[in-house]
Amino acid sequence: MVRGWHRGDCHVHSRRSHGGELTPEQLAAAARAAGLDFIAITEHNTADTHGALGSLTGDDLLVILGQEVVTDAGHWLALGVGPGQVIDWRDGPVDRRVAEVRRGGGLCVVAHPFAPYPSGTFTYPFDGFDAVEVWNGRWRSDLPWNADNEAALAAWGGDLAAGVRQGRWRPAIGNSDAHLAGQLGTPQTVVRAAARTTAAVLAGLRAGHCWIAGSAGIRLSCAAGAGARAAGIGEHLRTDGEPVVVRAEISGVPSGVVTFHTDRGRTHRDVLPRDGTGSVRWSTSVRDSAFVRVEVRHPTGHMAALTNPIILT
Ligand SMILES: [Zn+2]
Ligand SMILES: [Zn+2]
Repeated sequence: MVRGWHRGDCHVHSRRSHGGELTPEQLAAAARAAGLDFIAITEHNTADTHGALGSLTGDDLLVILGQEVVTDAGHWLALGVGPGQVIDWRDGPVDRRVAEVRRGGGLCVVAHPFAPYPSGTFTYPFDGFDAVEVWNGRWRSDLPWNADNEAALAAWGGDLAAGVRQGRWRPAIGNSDAHLAGQLGTPQTVVRAAARTTAAVLAGLRAGHCWIAGSAGIRLSCAAGAGARAAGIGEHLRTDGEPVVVRAEISGVPSGVVTFHTDRGRTHRDVLPRDGTGSVRWSTSVRDSAFVRVEVRHPTGHMAALTNPIILT
């Protein structure tokens, strides 16, 4: 049992899924080689590889059992289902299928909501889902592919800004959607969990105690303080009206552009040194900001890391 921050990829396919090329053994080996602490196996509408991958788990690698529920009106991830459990999307409305996964302790994630291909675009409401995959695969710069992740991030950020004061928001996560060798872990979600177990990792994701890294070499921490109180990513900071100082520490992003975002949009911008390591501070108050979240981009504009919000109350 390892407490602390764990790196993982919650959207992974073997060759059992259309377009996949890796065996379960190759997937587990690739996850270990990429330094991941956990992966979730999410084949298209099947649980056929649960047994094979489940047996490849170990102290160093947690395999969460899941499914990519591929429907004709969008895809979603059911994470933490039972061994062999299949969610049949044709069997009644989506909210009932979501409730079925949740009853078993699972997590339901909107997958690549703006994927530009038939059935890939998510047409269900985000309400009722636990998290949104705002970053799916490599952050591309060649149009139209880049539009996919930027649009997902914008939709998620707008939803967050609209609902956070009412306590309605859902965390962002990022996954590779790996089908091919070399894709695993790009990007990866770094989650704070009390232990490296399915229940603990899903609890961390559900609470938004997580951030997304474009690669294993990128490190980030972010905290906000008011008076003697402090809060981290996904947590609430009780400010009692006192000034709030937010501080982000980053490494692994040479000349990276760090921006802070609130319900009022982008509120602060700074640039990391050329060696890629630095910290950025910004002051605000609960009157001006309902939350603060951080994005780090490479100088090219490609995303390097992004956090879930710290919520100010
Ligand atoms: Zn999909
Ligand atoms: Zn997929």
